Amino acid sequence: MSVAIDLSGKTALVMGVANARSLGWAIADQLLQAGCHVGFSYQGERLKGELEKLTQGKENTWLQQADVTSEDDLSALFARVKEEFGGLDYLVHAIAYAPKAAMDNRFIETTPDDWNTAMGVSAYSLVACCRHAEPLLREGSSIISLTYHASQQVVPKYNVMGVAKAALEAATRYLAADFGSREIRINTISAGPMRTIAARSIPGFGGLYDKGARNAAFGRNATPQEVGKLALFLLCDLGSGITGQTIYVDAGLSIMTVKEDQA
Ligand code: NAP
Repeated sequence: MSVAIDLSGKTALVMGVANARSLGWAIADQLLQAGCHVGFSYQGERLKGELEKLTQGKENTWLQQADVTSEDDLSALFARVKEEFGGLDYLVHAIAYAPKAAMDNRFIETTPDDWNTAMGVSAYSLVACCRHAEPLLREGSSIISLTYHASQQVVPKYNVMGVAKAALEAATRYLAADFGSREIRINTISAGPMRTIAARSIPGFGGLYDKGARNAAFGRNATPQEVGKLALFLLCDLGSGITGQTIYVDAGLSIMTVKEDQA
């Protein structure tokens, strides 16, 4: 089923598309289908080619390199947003990273450097992006990021990334309060497990994915397209009145303990 949403004349910045499997791309795809103008940021030149392929032939798109840990990159990125769009309606943050050792080892062994890297890239960057975006945000603007249920319960090997997601969810509430007087909305989507590059770097992700499909209420995992549809709802006016929330799209995985037929 498709819902006709017209976002022509609206502008979005999508941060964190590595390839066609990225959740950022599933969201961008919905925005582009709705006629939105979309700018993309990518971390390094390595990913530019992939994004160029994805956006080839799509009107009203542009690309700009930006590592979210660099204030200079963020300043240049939002200067480009101003130059291309004049202002911004939608901001999509689909970025996370933790060093491999922090996920291979026991959580207790997390080093200060690995802690700071994971928290900086995966949580603080949302705050930094919002600060850079704020002067450009138009009336009715909406911001989303992506989180995961390991913020609430222990998921083996997710380790410091679970802590970073908890920080991201809390930051979403504080940012919502900061933006509240202008009725600018910010929410985070808690997605079930999906096969992406970032997910593949989590030790044992394959088993987690298969178990998720068996345990979820639907007996399957949610899809990137379902993330894209929820994102569209939260970004556009259909989501008015919703801010500061963590909203799940996981085919009913997080509500289950053990299924009846497995008890
Ligand atoms: P993905 O396709 O690998 O996207 C992650 C993106 O983050 C990549 O484009 C990556 O760029 C970018 N990134 C990492 N460090 C960066 C930095 N310093 N500056 C700028 N960009 C940086 O994986 P994904 O699963 O779609 O991840 C998107 C979001 O969804 C993340 O927040 C993730 O935690 C969340 N999420 C994913 C799942 C899942 O199961 N896949 C579930 C729930 C939530 P590089 O490739 O250059 O590093």
